[in-house]
Order: sequence, then structure tokens, then C-alpha cells
Amino acid sequence: MGLKLFNTLSRSIQEFAPLAPPKVGMYCCGPTVYDFAHIGNWRTFVFGDLVRRTLEFKGYAVTHVMNITDVEDKIIKHVRETKTSLREFTGKYEAAFLEDLKTLNCRLPHHTPRATEYISEIISLIEKLVQRGIAYKAADGSVYFSIEKYRGCGCTYGQLLKLNFDEMKAGERVKSDEYAKESVADFALWKARGPEDGDVFWPSPWGEGRPGWHIECSAMSTKILGPSFDLHLGGEDLIFPHHEDEIAQSEGATGKPFVKHWLHGAHLLVEGKKMSKSLGNFFTLRDLLAKGFIGREIRYLLLTAHYRETFNFTLEGLQGARAALARIDECLGKLREIGSLGVPPSGGSPVTPPEGGTPNLMAAFSAALDDDLNISAWGAVFEWVRETNRRLAENSLGATDAAFALAAWDKVDSVLGIGTKSGAEIPAEILALAEARTAAKKVKDFKRADAIRDELKAKGWVIEDTPKGPKLKKN
Ligand code: AMP
Ligand code: ZN
Repeated sequence: MGLKLFNTLSRSIQEFAPLAPPKVGMYCCGPTVYDFAHIGNWRTFVFGDLVRRTLEFKGYAVTHVMNITDVEDKIIKHVRETKTSLREFTGKYEAAFLEDLKTLNCRLPHHTPRATEYISEIISLIEKLVQRGIAYKAADGSVYFSIEKYRGCGCTYGQLLKLNFDEMKAGERVKSDEYAKESVADFALWKARGPEDGDVFWPSPWGEGRPGWHIECSAMSTKILGPSFDLHLGGEDLIFPHHEDEIAQSEGATGKPFVKHWLHGAHLLVEGKKMSKSLGNFFTLRDLLAKGFIGREIRYLLLTAHYRETFNFTLEGLQGARAALARIDECLGKLREIGSLGVPPSGGSPVTPPEGGTPNLMAAFSAALDDDLNISAWGAVFEWVRETNRRLAENSLGATDAAFALAAWDKVDSVLGIGTKSGAEIPAEILALAEARTAAKKVKDFKRADAIRDELKAKGWVIEDTPKGPKLKKN
């Protein structure tokens, strides 16, 4: 069975069929760098990473592009308010974004183009649209995309969602980057310089100004991946107008079909509500780390919901993620202890365990992914953990079985990316306390050793003495 994904373009689940397999060109709309990315944004970016990892697991050679939107309406407003330069302002949030990507163990995209470094490509694209009569310069010096002219060429505006053109007012246009479906109108490709733009502007054939948000993605994606590519991804709020406008601009300029498969992730709510600073339910990734959670716990939780279902994020959910990961870690730890004595699978596929091995994790996991990234993949993981634990308890799992099971887990985790518990995830302060306790024990200062154990407990860590030395566990 091949990989099947829901395509917003056809509104149906389709066999994933890239244009030139095994190559896959994949574009994810990236962050608008005017603030730290919040947990809702991270749901979408982790979903993008899941898609990339799934494709690589299936043997595709993916070129993953994620743009950095470093000039648009909201950014300009913040630059004005903070009296900083555009680069200085966006640079801080771009660096934070790339750091957060690593914290969540997302594979780094192969290209992370900045809109401000593609101004000449953006201008060329707009020029093409003007030459083809689909874009025009308005009296204010801005250049707009003409929906009427585009439709007049036999092109469809409203490919990702149905639009009611009878409600459209002819000649209406919208300059701001964000607008609702109810105000379908000619949208700005190039915005003439206004006093509010400060010194954020570039020269162009239409005078000084700056690009609109939508044209940025068309220019960067087609420049790097070509006029037609396989996969385009973003949160569901981007379907209109952003992605609809991307299709119109790109197909209007090249005359070729833009993207074959469109994937959209549903939104994340916090405690059942839309995130907002006034409700106190607005979390950046950094807010959650400050509460003591770690990247893999957050990643795990975000991946436990199907990407097309609205997900309700709660702090209790994160506690649950911690407990679920502990179960996986414990099982893997035991397998490692046994497996280290066994013959690791070499050469051939570690996919099929030998007779008497643990249940076939890989087959069940892979089949679940094929079904539009079905979350029953987690069911396969926990079924495997249960069965493995049962076999471990009855001592019927040999060293070779364990080595095969671990090799299968590594393949599965190449998609999930939750990794394993590592020393690196134990805060330095906790490690220092554990070392101080060992030192105290060495000099037989048991009173001090016990006091340190209590201190660790108060900080949420349990220390266990094993034949191989002390082990730290999260409470
Ligand atoms: P932005 O930085 O605002 O351009 O958004 C980056 C990505 O996060 C886009 O793909 C958005 O669709 C997505 N996004 C924004 N809010 C949420 C949310 N509450 N849940 C899931 N994804 C979101
Ligand atoms: Zn975009």
C-alpha cells in the first residue's frame, strides 16, 4: 500500500504521487518573525516535520523549503513601535525560531529563504503578471492582482475553497495582507511606500515600496522548487487568502499547475479556547520549557492528535506525555540491557523480527502512516511496548530478539523523532546534585547523601541506585 494523504485541492484522500519520484519538492509556509512562535504555530511546524520524516522513511528524497517571512504588515508595525531596524528586529526572532526547531527535534529544512533576500525575484514575478495583464498599478502606486483578469484567462480563483463571486464588488481592492473570505478582492502584490513604512522599502519599476506577503511565498517556492512542485503545507488558516493567492500568482505567471498536493493542519486550542494573551492561555515553546517541560514531551503531545483534527492542548496533557514517554523509555532501557549482549542485525532489513520476536512494529506503524498519517501509529507503538514488556517479564525475549526490536524502534523513531531519554535532557543543576550525592556516599556521609536525595525529589527527580551506578528518573 502506498502513502495516502488528504489533498485540500481535491478535498479527498489521494495516493501521494510526486512529479518525479523519488524526488519530492516540499514547501512549508514558515514563521512570520515578529515574536516567539507559540504552541499553535509549533503544532503546524511539527506536523510539517512529521510529513518530511514520513516521506524520508518511505524512501523519498525530499527537498524541504521553509521560508522566513521577514517583511509584512505586522513586522513593519513592530519595527516602527520598537524603533529598531528591520534586520535587527527580525534577526532575534528568526534565531529563536531555528533554536526552537532544534528543541523540538525537527529536521532542519534544506532551504530557509528570507523574503528580504528575494526582492528581485518578487519584482520579476510581479513584472510577469503585469506583462500578462493580470496585475495593474493603481493610483496610489501599489500593484494589485486582478481577479477579474485572471478569471478572464480561464483560470480558477477559488481552487482550495469555493468562493461566491456574486457577492464580490467589482473594482474593490485590499491592501492589507490579511483579509477574510467575505472580502475577496484584488490584493496587493507591491505596496507603495507610505510614511508608516519608515525606512523599510526597496526600489522597483513602480516606485519605492515593499512586497505583499502572498507574493513572497510564490517567488521563493518557485525559485527554489520550480514552477510546479509536489507538496505545499501550512496551517488551515492559510487556505484563504494566502494559499489561494499563491496559486493565482504562480499559475498566473507561469501558466503551469503550481502544486500537486496541498496539506493543511488543523488549529490548536488551549484549554478549549483560542489562544490569547488576555485569557492567560498563550504559551510560547519557551514558556513551556520554563515550566520544566522538555522538547520531546511537547513534541510527543503535539503528535498524538491527527493533524486534521482540532487539538486541545492542556498542561495535564503534557504530564500525560511525560508518563507515556517514561513507559517507552523503560521498555527501551530493558531492551538495551538485553540487546547489548545479542547480535545486532547487520546488512539485511531489521524490519522483520526473527521467529519468536516482538510483534511486527514496523508493518503496523508503516500501514498506519500510509492511511493519511493515522494516529493509530501510536497504537502500534504501545501495543509493541505492552507485548515486549510481557515477554520481558516472562524472560522469553532473547538477546537477538531485543537487538532486532531496537533496530525496528530506531526506524520508527526516525519518523516520530521523540528520541530517547538522554543525559543531555537532565538539567545541569540536577546532574551536579547527583554527582554531589555520589561523592557524599563515597566518603560515607550518608546524612548528606540522603539530604541531597530529598532535594532532588523536591525538584521532581528520583535517584535509583543500580548495579551500573545511580540512575536519574523524572518524578
Ligand atoms: P505565522 O507565524 O503567524 O505566519 O504562522 C505560522 C504557522 O502557524 C502557519 O502555518 C499558521 O497556519 C500556523 N498557526 C497559527 N496559529 C495556529 C494555531 N492556533 N494552531 C495551529 N497552527 C497555527
Ligand atoms: Zn506562505
